[in-house]
Amino acid sequence: TRVRQKLVVGNWKMHGSLEANGGLLKAVAAGAGALQPVQLAVCAPFPYLAQCQSLLAGSPVQWGAQDVSAEARGAFTGEVAASMLAEFGCQFVIVGHSERRTYHAEQDSVIATKALRALEHGVTPIVCVGETLAQREAGQTEQVVGRQLQALLDALSVEQLGRIVVAYEPVWAIGTGKTASSAQAQDVHAYLRGLVASRDAGVAQRMQILYGGSVKPESAGELFGMPDIDGGLIGGASLKAEDFLAIGAAG
Ligand code: PEP
Repeated sequence: TRVRQKLVVGNWKMHGSLEANGGLLKAVAAGAGALQPVQLAVCAPFPYLAQCQSLLAGSPVQWGAQDVSAEARGAFTGEVAASMLAEFGCQFVIVGHSERRTYHAEQDSVIATKALRALEHGVTPIVCVGETLAQREAGQTEQVVGRQLQALLDALSVEQLGRIVVAYEPVWAIGTGKTASSAQAQDVHAYLRGLVASRDAGVAQRMQILYGGSVKPESAGELFGMPDIDGGLIGGASLKAEDFLAIGAAG
């Protein structure tokens, strides 16, 4: 028996249309039952959350968003609150994706606050960490991902820590076609789990740590077979039902 359920989450990024999503969601919903106990979820752009809710409710597929406000409510034009995600049935929200860290200058502290907002509404934050190529080549991988995770360890109680998902996404592997080797990924996952264990061993043992970065059906099996890799966060390959389901089948 597995200690942790495998989880495969699609990150659609800023892709999709009502028409394209309709076909994709129906195909993923139709194929997901056969993959259980692997859990599938899709994280869609905000305007499509209602469509996810109407097409996925009652299916084995869960859904979520790609960002959430660090504020609970108020005069924050353009922001979306965690309570709103909850109203649309979101199980998950991605926080701290490297694209948000890079293009929107999100810092570790705001990312931790976003995770807290999500948890307040029963939405599971998928907190992304990962080093750049320059950082890896300088031997700073553990220092970088350690600092990124530490912000969460500092901000969350043990109970809250027990309700997050972590995604290790090396920046150099996202959208580049370069996947981390299963050994490279496993090393970082084990390091991250160890950091969580220094806070609480039981939480560390139960925490789902996903790998993300150019995962394809061909690479998923080996990655997901590693002891500390509990599934994946899938960008490009989540836009094709066939590929996304094949990745799920590797879980
Ligand atoms: C991502 O953006 O979370 C991601 C993993 O993208 P891709 O699979 O396209 O590298």
